[in-house]
Amino acid sequence: MSFGAAASRAAFDGFPRVADADPCPCGSGDRFDGCCAPALRGTAAPTAERLMRSRYTAFVIGDAAYLSETWHPGTRPDELTLDPDQRWTGLEIVAVGRGTEADNRGVVEFRAAWRHGRDRGVLHERSRFVQQGGRWWYLDGLIDPT
Ligand SMILES: [Zn+2]
Repeated sequence: MSFGAAASRAAFDGFPRVADADPCPCGSGDRFDGCCAPALRGTAAPTAERLMRSRYTAFVIGDAAYLSETWHPGTRPDELTLDPDQRWTGLEIVAVGRGTEADNRGVVEFRAAWRHGRDRGVLHERSRFVQQGGRWWYLDGLIDPT
């Protein structure tokens, strides 16, 4: 492997970089290394909301592998590629249903703001999560829930 390939993998070329001491992109108010970074580095997220937040952060920093790894094998797409021009600029958790360590299902409704070139928008989704095998998985999502 060339040094260039290693460097681009580490930095998710074209996506924003987040340092450990930076505010976490998910908007929790915590530092990255005290919020979504542990999940992104392999420590299973303890709740559906934490998994949802870490997946949002993965979209921000371009970590497609993490998105695949946390997507339930039953609903996971064969291929997942992220567009570096699609920037995620803010997350708001609207509602959380169950999804605690004691549950095996959870629902997280959120609004995620995005920018793509001169276009801006908000993705409003209600995501479903399942806990299986000691970890949470993203199952699927309903866009623009009523
Ligand atoms: Zn976070």
